[in-house]
Amino acid sequence: MLQAVQIQPVSFDNLPEFQPDSVEAQVGNTPLLNLRKLADAAGIAPTVDVYAKAEWFNPSGSVKDRPALNIIRSAETLGLLRPGMTLLDSTSGNMGIAYAMLGAARGYKVALALPANASAERIAILRSYGAELVLTDPLEGSDGAIIEARRLAGENPDYFYARQYDNPANWLAHYHTTAPEIWRQTEGRVTHFVAGLGTSGTFTGTTRRLRAFNPGIEAISMQPDSLFNGLEGLKHMPTALKPGIYDEFSADENIEVRTEDAYQMALRMAREAGLFVGVSSAANVVAAFAVAQRLDDGVVVTVLPDNGFKYLSDRFWKQ
Ligand code: PMP
Repeated sequence: MLQAVQIQPVSFDNLPEFQPDSVEAQVGNTPLLNLRKLADAAGIAPTVDVYAKAEWFNPSGSVKDRPALNIIRSAETLGLLRPGMTLLDSTSGNMGIAYAMLGAARGYKVALALPANASAERIAILRSYGAELVLTDPLEGSDGAIIEARRLAGENPDYFYARQYDNPANWLAHYHTTAPEIWRQTEGRVTHFVAGLGTSGTFTGTTRRLRAFNPGIEAISMQPDSLFNGLEGLKHMPTALKPGIYDEFSADENIEVRTEDAYQMALRMAREAGLFVGVSSAANVVAAFAVAQRLDDGVVVTVLPDNGFKYLSDRFWKQ
């Protein structure tokens, strides 16, 4: 005979309150991955560790959630950004996606200037969040988008122009979050920090704070080897409009990475370590390995700004 089962009525009393902006609580505190297997294959001594921050764990999928959130919060605090206003900026894609996500969550309109050759995936994501896009000449790269954003800011004085290249809230986001996380996750063992330069926010902010923890930490910046390159999100500083927040004297060393080497590393990371990363992440690992190869011992930390989902239409994945 079947026994009657007592079913407890479900209680909704103790559920947490619904927070419309709780996506913001998911920004930062990303995992620090050990790249041991790839490092072994690259001939790096077993006494040298190479770690990487997996920034695609941020809610819009890239490192740019950190500066976007800090830029928005500081502008609100300063009274520069108020409900109903439009946030305007130029972006190569990831910062725009972060603004578009946070803008949607917080009730701001988002207008973005970006080069028309940004990947189809990026443009589709931005449109899905409801951002308004002004596409600029691909031949002018990210500098063309900066010039267009300045023009739009002049025409629309009621917009909040976020100026990610010049806004100290960009590098301060890394000063207050990325660096303390690295310090904690390596238990203070980090000896070298390696990061590519876009706005330079990641490199500048993380380096300043890590050096406050330990002035002996070496900071190595990475750039593409030429103006024409496939390292989306990065700048070739000698030929680019210099970001206002960029301090060219803060790096102990600068490493140039060829696009082809980054492509090869991206393929290896996916196939040999199950890490499906974007091209600038792979370029950071190329540079971090170059540093690690010369050491007898040490802890090298770099950043994986995003994963490969937005670059699926890039031809090199078909190799
Ligand atoms: N990689 C990718 C994919 C990016 O979108 C960016 C930001 N432009 C960077 C690297 C460089 O980061 P930052 O602007 O902090 O220098």
